[in-house]
Formats: sequence, structure tokens, C-alpha cells
Amino acid sequence: MKPAPFAFVRPAGLEHALEALAGDPGAKVLAGGQSLVPLLSMRLAAPSLLVDINGLPGLDHVTCSGDGVRVGALARHADVLADQEARRVQPLVALALGHVAHATIRNRGTTVGSLVHADAAAEMPVVLKLLGGSLEVASATGRRTIAADDLFAGPLESTLAHDEIALEAFFPALPPGSGVAFEEISRRHGDYALCGAAALVEDHRVSVGYLSVSDVPTVVDLSGVPEAELGDAALEHLEPADDIHATADYRAELVRVLTRRVVRAAHEFRQAAS
Ligand code: FAD
Repeated sequence: MKPAPFAFVRPAGLEHALEALAGDPGAKVLAGGQSLVPLLSMRLAAPSLLVDINGLPGLDHVTCSGDGVRVGALARHADVLADQEARRVQPLVALALGHVAHATIRNRGTTVGSLVHADAAAEMPVVLKLLGGSLEVASATGRRTIAADDLFAGPLESTLAHDEIALEAFFPALPPGSGVAFEEISRRHGDYALCGAAALVEDHRVSVGYLSVSDVPTVVDLSGVPEAELGDAALEHLEPADDIHATADYRAELVRVLTRRVVRAAHEFRQAAS
């Protein structure tokens, strides 16, 4: 199938891009195209105008400081994954990015685009939420910062307005004495996960984020839960469902197994770092 007809602009400046979006309620941003173009081709999306942001200057950065990692809207998954300083400042970002699709898709797809796309089966939305990160967005009328807790509204739905462009994601640094881990099970490496889990252990606090077991990326506080009960405690907050890839029961079992594994691995990470 081919996409429905659409108009196309490739602005050279942010102001022009924001004006184009504001001027057409049916407009959509095009970044790496790795999610949007398949949706267009299947006619699951039919925007009247595509605003291609690939010509905008100054958005392809991966910047690290003591407080965290800032990822520009045009930084590709591969750029972020290859950044050694980002890996040091917040190791969970690279641990999770290694599971995002295949190299060719990571070369083109953007990490910020994945956050805006808000797929509960994707790795980076749940990582941003677990770490308490945020997204900086702009519209023709101003800028705002959306905390990860307020970003994911429903299946494939973020809280960006149609006329906003996400400029930068912020992943907070790993605090000293903390540990992280990421694991997922997929039918083949690079496929979307049947279930995935990311853990963050800080002091006595244990948090685990899940992908592919709820409509939105979900983080569960498992502080103080004995190891043998971790998975069942998490399942009280999750909704594993049947689909063509796995049954709900199988997904629930993956939650039990992966929760135990990532919490243990995050504790080991923490001990090794101290
Ligand atoms: P696009 O496709 O260009 O856009 C996606 C959506 O976000 C659109 O609605 C667009 O309007 C909006 N958008 C993008 N950037 C912005 C912005 N800066 N401001 C406002 N709106 C914006 N992802 C995973 O996480 N895990 C996987 O295992 C995985 N497997 C994949 C396998 C295949 C075969 C393919 C084709 C894709 C896969 N992906 C996977 C998706 C991939 O990670 C995409 O790159 C990513 O989801 C979207 O980034 P993009 O830059 O391509 O965005």
C-alpha cells in the first residue's frame, strides 16, 4: 500500500518549522521516519503535511554533564549508543538502546522520536520514565519541559500538542552508589520485546520499569519486597495481554523471571561500582 497524498516541507530553521505546524492541524513532524513512514505506508496515519525536521540546525547533539545526558531531536539511536561519555554518566541508556531494533534502524531512528511516539513496547520511553527524565518541547508560542511522568498519555499517545516539536530529552545521571540493569525477551534480537524490564536500585529504593506489558510505559516501586515475591508484586500493577506473539500467562511469567534478574543485576552493578 502507498501513503495517502500529503504536502511536504523541510524548513531550515526552527521558527519556520513551528509556523508550518501551527498553520495546519493535520501536520506531523518527520524525524527518522522509522515509525511514521510504516504508519503512512499502511495508511494508519494520513497527515495533510509532513514537516521534516532533518534540516534544522543544532539538534543532533548528545551532551553529557554531571547532572545527566541531553539528547537532541536529531541524534540517532546509533549516535547515543556510541557515546562513551553518555554510557558513563547514565549506563542504562546504552544498556537499553542495544535492544532497540537493528543497526540500520538505529542509524536513522531518533531517540527523541521514539519518546514522542510513546510506544509501550519500546525501550526508551520506559527508561526515561524510570530515571525521572524529561522532554523539552517548543511551539510557536513558547517552550515547556514535560516530565516523563506526564509524557505518556495512552497507547502510542504522548502529551505533546500537535503544534509542538520536541527539541531535547534529558536522562538524569546515575547517582553514585546506585545500580541499573536492563533485560528483555524477544523472538529474535532486535524485534520488539515480548516483555522487557529495567531496574534502578538506589539506597533502599528498588524501582522497575516494564515494556510490552501495559498500554503505557509503567514503573513499579518494589522497595522492600523479598526477592521471591518481586514478580508477583510487580504484576499487581501490570496488565499482560494476549497477542499473536505470546499469551498473557507467558508474559506474566516473563515479568516474574525478568524482574528477579534485573533487580539482582542492578544490585550487582551497584556492588561492583562501589
Ligand atoms: P519518526 O518515525 O519520524 O516519528 C515517529 C513519531 O514521532 C511521529 O508521530 C512523529 O510526528 C513524532 N516525532 C518524531 N520526532 C519528533 C519531534 N522531535 N518532535 C515532535 N514529534 C516528533 N523501536 C524500539 O524502541 N524498539 C524496537 O525494538 C524497535 N524495532 C523496530 C523495528 C523496525 C523494523 C522498525 C521499522 C522500527 C523499530 N523501532 C523500534 C522504532 C524505531 O526505534 C524508531 O526510530 C522510533 O520509534 C521513532 O523515531 P524516528 O526518529 O524514526 O521517528
